[in-house]
Amino acid sequence: MKKKISLPMQILIALILGIVVGFACYAMQVPDFTTNYLKPFGDIFVNLLKFIVVPVVLLSMIDGILSMGDMKKVGSVGVKTLVYFMTTSAIACVIGLTVANLFNSAHLFPVLSASDASYAGGEFQGFMSTLVGIFPTNMWDAFHNANMLQIIVIALFFGGSIMAAGEKARLVQDIVSAFYAVIEKLMGFIISLSPIGVFTYMAWVVATEGPEIVGNLAIVILCAYAGYFIHAALVYSLSAQFLAGMSPLAFFKGAFAAMMFAFTSTSSAATLPVSKECADNMGADSDISSFVLPLGATINMNGTAIYQCVVTVFLASCAGIQLTLSQMVIVVATATLSAIGTAGTPGAGLIMLTMVLSTLGIPVDYIGLVLAVDRLFDMGRSCLNVTGDIACAVFVSRWEGRKAARR
Ligand code: ASP
Repeated sequence: MKKKISLPMQILIALILGIVVGFACYAMQVPDFTTNYLKPFGDIFVNLLKFIVVPVVLLSMIDGILSMGDMKKVGSVGVKTLVYFMTTSAIACVIGLTVANLFNSAHLFPVLSASDASYAGGEFQGFMSTLVGIFPTNMWDAFHNANMLQIIVIALFFGGSIMAAGEKARLVQDIVSAFYAVIEKLMGFIISLSPIGVFTYMAWVVATEGPEIVGNLAIVILCAYAGYFIHAALVYSLSAQFLAGMSPLAFFKGAFAAMMFAFTSTSSAATLPVSKECADNMGADSDISSFVLPLGATINMNGTAIYQCVVTVFLASCAGIQLTLSQMVIVVATATLSAIGTAGTPGAGLIMLTMVLSTLGIPVDYIGLVLAVDRLFDMGRSCLNVTGDIACAVFVSRWEGRKAARR
């Protein structure tokens, strides 16, 4: 009998093949081949994921809330989730700042001039207007613009109201779960195509982001990746061991497919269906993962927090600014908030970096210095972002399960 290769294995093979083909195209100086003929297939795949992400987030959150069955449980899951997200984001910032300062004080960062760098980013509008903006004035606009924070608010309100309406809203409950069942099937199909996405994107990145683009930023990229690794090894291993009661190795193995997928697609939102499959396979309750993962893909960005801290220290040194301890505290606070506000889409973390830089008085033009290599930073930060979401879903499920068992 033919044995089917598991999805993580398929993704691993696609990743390795992508690297090999990418190198070959780079060595033969035909990187355009990957841009013109391989990447479009990756784009088709990512388009498919993006096209289902709005219904996935909306229906999965409402369905999750309804399956939990009472608002008390929703509240308890919500509080644990938010506490986990906030704590790990703050830890991520501390790790990011620590590694960046170590690199900086060892004079490893290059000092680049921003005279010919430019970045046309919008100025940060302030916390209050950001907060107001989370509440939609028009539901369809939120769907149309795929504004995930607004969609989460809509899902919370509708989920709660459908539950409060009880028996009278039975039909709506059935419709939501019927639609969600359809979306799950569709997700399953699209996920089965993910090795194509991984292969084509990987080949394209390797062929086009050659050593000359990376140039003297290699050390800054290395610093960010050191932060990503330390965070994963420390925070997720400990979470797996002590909060979820599973070995770190089993956790990373279980999350592997989503991690690789996020690494190549650079989008937590697009990785959502894969993350759900990984979390559920590791024993997360479906109602809890349906609630935690969309929320995580929208607001939980540990990798982004690390990246923003590292790049802030680097750009500050380029601008000749030595950050004081109190400024570092400001970096932790603003990077935590800005990571929350970062959308789970490619390059979003770079846009939100403007918030951290403007708070510190570093000209946003300096972002131009890291723009060209943002994808390389983004691959690692997206990978870490989804790992954090999955860790949280598994941990909250175990925790809630234990509570239920005690009762
Ligand atoms: N691309 C990241 C993500 O989707 C967000 C970011 O750009 O930092 O998780």
